[in-house]
Amino acid sequence: MLVSAKEMLTKAKAGHYAVGQFNINNLEWTKAILTAAQEMNSPAILGVSEGAGKYMTGFKTVTAMVKAMDEALGITVPIALHLDHGTYEGCKACVEAGFTSIMFDGSSYSIDENKAKTEELVKLAHDNGLSIEAEVGSIGGEEDGVVGMGECADPDECKMIADLGVDMLAAGIGNIHGIYPDNWAGLQFDVLDAIQQKTGAMPLVLHGGSGIPEEMIKKAIDLGVSKVNVNTECQLVFAAATREYIEAGKDKEGKGYDPRKLLAPGAKAIEEETKAKIKLFGSDGKA
Ligand SMILES: [Zn+2]
Repeated sequence: MLVSAKEMLTKAKAGHYAVGQFNINNLEWTKAILTAAQEMNSPAILGVSEGAGKYMTGFKTVTAMVKAMDEALGITVPIALHLDHGTYEGCKACVEAGFTSIMFDGSSYSIDENKAKTEELVKLAHDNGLSIEAEVGSIGGEEDGVVGMGECADPDECKMIADLGVDMLAAGIGNIHGIYPDNWAGLQFDVLDAIQQKTGAMPLVLHGGSGIPEEMIKKAIDLGVSKVNVNTECQLVFAAATREYIEAGKDKEGKGYDPRKLLAPGAKAIEEETKAKIKLFGSDGKA
């Protein structure tokens, strides 16, 4: 059932658990995550980056596929279709295409321009029934694998952006996108606590959830994180399972080259990984 992320995150914040955002890249990814969420009786958020949207030939294609698959698989748990790190233009395109949630990443703008554009997009999203996530400061990492500590957001800026009426807030607390470097300093719980104190009931979002030790994830959820983004981990398990299949020579046995067989172990691995994350975040049985 496609819905905005508003209600599932409000419930998560009140219930002290988190909803996972799992990024999708294609049909197999989508099917694996929807199946896992349904089996775990858990809400879930399908994340689509602008790059993944382009890869799938556009946001309209993504919406059509997700809506049809949700119906065909008989998915009854709440599922949000969410733009991840959207530009101003990307947000507008996703509202038009029928997404149920957007994230506006205004981190490249000055705080004043970020504020003005966020205000405009909050109105557009809410007028169309979508939820909206905003970002304060920027999340470290990306290609910058050498940083030991991700950036930390300013709690007062968080409060200011939260007051613009967004439904969820991403704030850097030392987390990083991609694979964490060996010298990573860990999550900054004092910063998270200060942000939580200032923003109250606002669901907070932890980006770069792949590779953060489980105990740190649990503590972050205790301190007010209600949405955890997972992307890299699903990519890694997909690649490993596919590699294993090919290295074992299975694509050369019978019709093992059939893409439906070749991609099956990777898809299964994503499904298992998603289930494990749902359990870790505590959203199982919370649909
Ligand atoms: Zn992110």
